[in-house]
Amino acid sequence: MKTFLFDDIIFGPVNSRRLGKSLGINLLPTTSKYCNFNCIYCECGWTKNSGKIDFHSVESVISELEKVLAKYSETNESLDVITYAGNGEPTLHPKFSEIIDKTIILRNKYCPNVKIAVLSNATMLHKESVFKSLLKIDLPILKLDSGIESTIININQPTGSFSISKLIENFKKFDGNFHLQTMFLKGEFNGNIIDNTTEVEIDAWLKIIEETKPKQVMIYSIARNTPADNLKPVSVEELSIIAKKVRKLGIEVLITP
Ligand code: SF4
Repeated sequence: MKTFLFDDIIFGPVNSRRLGKSLGINLLPTTSKYCNFNCIYCECGWTKNSGKIDFHSVESVISELEKVLAKYSETNESLDVITYAGNGEPTLHPKFSEIIDKTIILRNKYCPNVKIAVLSNATMLHKESVFKSLLKIDLPILKLDSGIESTIININQPTGSFSISKLIENFKKFDGNFHLQTMFLKGEFNGNIIDNTTEVEIDAWLKIIEETKPKQVMIYSIARNTPADNLKPVSVEELSIIAKKVRKLGIEVLITP
């Protein structure tokens, strides 16, 4: 199915139900996706990671951002959040921490009430500089699509080694100061049944939530084209049943379309 790439460093703002009015920042190349996951539902398409990766320089990201934030400040136009997302995994940018530090300075100068969010697949948390940067921002939103390692391998298809126990240890280091994001979906891929909503799946996922105590859990399902063909969204009714189970743990949960 047809997927898409963001064709600039800055995109939006978009009105997001979970984040409000969000200005997107794409640190990855505009001509190809770069990620260490290859999620079967990724709206940017399949991961290829071939050839030289043309990351945007710190200077180009920060100068573009400064122009936009200065305009918001001048016009008093509302903005809720600056969100690092885009064509892949933002924390793979080699200068990610420098970009975050400079973003915080710009935010404080021009739009002090605006939050900073990073949508991350949480695979780079072992890197001290990435972990520390995510602790400095308002909304580190970390992906966990299953509590079962083999399901993560089927759905997210890590391109390198992956260990769910290491991921859990890294989540715990946030001491609850993170948001956990989960895509629920059903279907079939490469001969494997895909369904992370079964009782066994939800039990394993809830166990990790209970152990790591995120500030908030965000759950959603497929809303756009996916690179894999045979995937189906999970209904809002089913998401609501899952959400109730999270609330029972005393943790806030948001269902996003
Ligand atoms: S982690 Fe995000 S960018 Fe990477 S493949 Fe998955 S959905 Fe796409």
